[in-house]
Formats: sequence, structure tokens, C-alpha cells
Amino acid sequence: MAETSNRRVLSGMRSTNPRLHLGNYEGALRNWVKLQDEGYEMYCMVADLHSLTTMYDDAPQISLNSREVAKDYIAAGIDPSRTAVFVQSHLPEHSELHLLLSMVTPLGWLERVPTYKEKQQDMQGAEREPYGLLGYPVLQTADILLYKPVGVPVGRDQAPHLEIGNDIAKRFNHLYGIEVFQPYKYLIPEDESRATVPGLDMRKMSKSYDNFIGISDSEDETAKKIMSAFTTPTKLKKTDPGIPEGCAVCQLLRLYSPNWQKQWDEDRHGERGCVQNKKELIEAINEHFRPMRERRKQQEGSIEDILKAGADKARERAAKTLDEVKRAMGLY
Ligand code: ADP
Repeated sequence: MAETSNRRVLSGMRSTNPRLHLGNYEGALRNWVKLQDEGYEMYCMVADLHSLTTMYDDAPQISLNSREVAKDYIAAGIDPSRTAVFVQSHLPEHSELHLLLSMVTPLGWLERVPTYKEKQQDMQGAEREPYGLLGYPVLQTADILLYKPVGVPVGRDQAPHLEIGNDIAKRFNHLYGIEVFQPYKYLIPEDESRATVPGLDMRKMSKSYDNFIGISDSEDETAKKIMSAFTTPTKLKKTDPGIPEGCAVCQLLRLYSPNWQKQWDEDRHGERGCVQNKKELIEAINEHFRPMRERRKQQEGSIEDILKAGADKARERAAKTLDEVKRAMGLY
């Protein structure tokens, strides 16, 4: 990222599940750690309010999950002594800015968001679709703008939300005639196979589907999940040709195996079977995540203390921005 006087970066993950997965890691968390280690002022949020959009009837579970998600951040290399790790709902500033921004956001912008349609489908069976689901990108915009970051590191799926965020910021500045917000950059991994990591069923890996490998899964859990992963459906015998581009195991080999090109060639030419691919993938993933899994077991300090210190640090910045916003609007 270009050198600038503003070195702030904000990002977050939902806590709809206690475990973060390889998609969360490759798409975003890996970049968070890199930016932190480059000296950026990082704010790493656990987005519990966002989790309520699809789990509004299970807030106690979300609260438990939030602690586990924060532990996964730290296991992956986020250092709470340098980076603010906090839970979104611990700062009412997020909800307040969300409300104010919702007044200046045209409805049509939200109805066009592609993930809104997807989430509507995920909600099938729920009695009624909540209003909060449509407002999701506005809450996300509030999360971001409170910290006035220079960049937001996320996976590819978040690009439409981030675009709306910059549009809302621009509209706010225009309406109130003061440049409260500057545009932020989206920091999406350049390598497309990291920007959107496929799940074990070749859909996008997601906490909402049962298709993920957790950063903190045990070695046995990892093995069990990979053994049941989707491969080329027409490759029934070792000698049948594979199509690595459409095979979940090959896609993950590409991310974690140094020999992936040879493995892909052999797969394509019917020179290796899916079971061999799976076994080598289990080895590669377990080796890659072993240090993080160990670090998670040995985590020191109470997570409650870490989240409290993180919220205190985040609040300093968030309260300042909220005050500026209210003044710009003439609300005081
Ligand atoms: P999920 O879809 O698993 O609930 P979130 O919506 O909480 O994940 O997203 C948290 C972060 O992880 C976002 O930056 C998102 O872009 C990224 N992310 C989620 N799934 C993937 C994936 N399969 N590949 C790459 N990045 C992903």
C-alpha cells in the first residue's frame, strides 16, 4: 500500500460460527497480519451485530462464538498489544453511525447488492426476512468510516459492499458540504484463488455452509473433511483424467502444496488418483496450520481483558468520528 500519513486499517469477520476457516484466512486475515507487521494501525473487529442478521434468535451463541473468533485472530498472528481486537456491539458508536448513515443511503443502492439476494435465499425457512439484512452494507459502512481507514483488507465477496461504502461517504460529504470522509482502498488478494477460496463442495467456502476447514480444526477433523471433499465427478479410477480447475482438492493443493503443479499435471493425465491427492492435501494443510493451532492452545491472557482493551482503543477513534459526523449534520 502507498505510503501515507494515515496508516489506519479496519476489517472484521462475522461470528456466526466459532471457527474461522481457510477462506477467511486467505482472503483477509493473512493480509491483516501482514499489514500489522508492516506497522499499520490495525482495528480487527468481531462483527457480532452482523451475525444477528441471520441468527437474531441466538445471540448467546453469537457471544460465545465472538470470543472464539477473536482467539483465531490471535492464533493467526494478530498481536493484541499492537492491534485493537474488539467486538462490534461493545461500541454503541457503530450502531449510532449506522442509523445516521441509513438516513442518507438510497434504498435502490441496497436492493441491488448481489449478496443481499444470496442471503435472502440462505434465510429460506425463516419466518420473516429482517429489515437488518437489507441494511447490512450500511452497518458495514459505519464500521469502516468510524476509523477513517486508508484501506480495508477483505476477500473478493466483500467488494460490492465496500463500493457502496465509498458511495455513501461521498454522498454524506456532498449533502453536508464538508469532507468528513476520504475514500478508502479495498485490499483484496491479487491471487484470485486466495481472494475466493472454494469450499469442500466447490461453492465459496463459508461459515454458513458445512463446507469449510477451520483454522483451528484438529488434524483428524481436517483429514475427515478432506476425505469427503468434492473431486472431478467423472474421475472414477486413478487412470481417468481429472479437471483440477473444478476439483476442490486440487484447488486447495494449489494454495498449500509446493508441488501443486506436478500434482495437477498428473491428475489431469490420469497418473494419480483422488485419494492420493487428498492424502497429500491433508499433510500440506496440517503442516501449514500446525503453528497456529499450537499458538491457539497456548494463548496467554484472558480474552475478556484483550477485548476490553481493544474496545477502549477503538472507542477513542470511533467517538471522535461520530462527533465530527454529528457536527457536520448540525446535530448537537
Ligand atoms: P463467511 O462468509 O464465512 O461468514 P464473513 O462474511 O465473516 O465470512 O467474511 C469475513 C472475511 O473473510 C471477509 O473479508 C470475506 O471476504 C472473507 N472471506 C469469507 N469467505 C471467503 C472465501 N471463501 N474466500 C476468500 N475470502 C473469504
